[in-house]
Amino acid sequence: MDNSEVTGKRVKIRAKNRIFEGIAMPSATGSFVLKLDNGYNVGFTDYELLEVKEVEKAEERLELFRSPDLPDVKIISTGGTIASKVDYNTGAVTSQFTAEEIVADVPEIAEICNIDAMLLYNILSENMKVQHWIELAGEVYSALKKYEGVIITHGTDTMAYTASALAFMLSTPKPVILVGAQRSSDRPSSDAAMNLVCSAVAATSDLGEVSVVMHATTSDDYCYIHRGVKVRKCHTSRRDAFKSVNFPPLGRVDYSRREVEWFVEDRFRRGERELRIADRMEEKCVLIKFFPGMKPDVLNYYHDEGYRGFVIEGTGLGHVSTDWIDTLKDICDDSVVVMTSQCIWGRICDRVYDTGRYLLRAGVIEGEDMLPEVALIKLMWLLGNYDVEKARELVRENIAGEITMSTRYWEAEV
Ligand code: GLU
Repeated sequence: MDNSEVTGKRVKIRAKNRIFEGIAMPSATGSFVLKLDNGYNVGFTDYELLEVKEVEKAEERLELFRSPDLPDVKIISTGGTIASKVDYNTGAVTSQFTAEEIVADVPEIAEICNIDAMLLYNILSENMKVQHWIELAGEVYSALKKYEGVIITHGTDTMAYTASALAFMLSTPKPVILVGAQRSSDRPSSDAAMNLVCSAVAATSDLGEVSVVMHATTSDDYCYIHRGVKVRKCHTSRRDAFKSVNFPPLGRVDYSRREVEWFVEDRFRRGERELRIADRMEEKCVLIKFFPGMKPDVLNYYHDEGYRGFVIEGTGLGHVSTDWIDTLKDICDDSVVVMTSQCIWGRICDRVYDTGRYLLRAGVIEGEDMLPEVALIKLMWLLGNYDVEKARELVRENIAGEITMSTRYWEAEV
């Protein structure tokens, strides 16, 4: 049967002695393909297909019900997989949903909080720029004046960068939760609904900091609440892709019980800090990954372009080859140079080997246990708000939980 007339529409069909309902999909093979509400595609031959009838949308849009007993939470949607579904015309996954539509898809959220939603962007997170972070920080700042918590739906690829940027730009007395999904919400294995429900639990908790809420395991049992400046996406596709690095997750949200179990006492609590924003960022900062044999002229290139913030992702405890030392010494005269490690886990110590000692003498600053990308964003923020000398001083200090005083080996297991 030619299904071009009903492609993309909701239909009820009679076939194989049963009634099926779903969306008629385009088909290259001539068979009639139906996408069921559970996400599976079923194909029918002309012989099997007895009747096709167009039907009204099964679910009407959720009327957002407001309960006076529940806290008000703002959802700011920026795009990414959590906001995407299959485009039935092309078969591709595209971002096309507003935050309100996400809530309509996950009605359980209405049992946790009253939602207001806004679509700020509809972009994949690799397209985020510093300007987006600044604009987003402004929206979150305004929302925090009125709401008990803020949820930001975001693509997972660069979610941790955005979390860091917000953590430095905002002093928040309330939870600011970033959430995403590895699989879009119309896939049977989607993590979108559970992550969103857990983010609502976190957004109404007693937390007072920027965090990332994502699946903790590959099952639908609980989500971790990661500190925004201590988290990294560590897997391209697994639902438990996000790991806290050099610090435990702050806590976890039990999906079925909708409860938080805290792991970390030393966390910012609701009401502890005043709401403030400092949203200037210096874009001329760069993260350079060293590899054996790499020439130091890359440093001169950026320096000549006016860059004054350098984060180096060095080897092991924080090293580059000794032929970088002279160039680094020159750069350090008027720039901030921070050493981090490609190891990810552990702490920089440039006092163990000669190379490290030369680096310190050249003026390179040890980045402690900061993730390289977090050090980069910290530097952007520091140089946006302070002069080079003050930035050099503050980069060693813990501002948003990005530096922990001692690294315990078990954290690598989390
Ligand atoms: N690359 C896209 C992004 O980060 C899609 C992946 C995702 O959302 O997880 O926005």
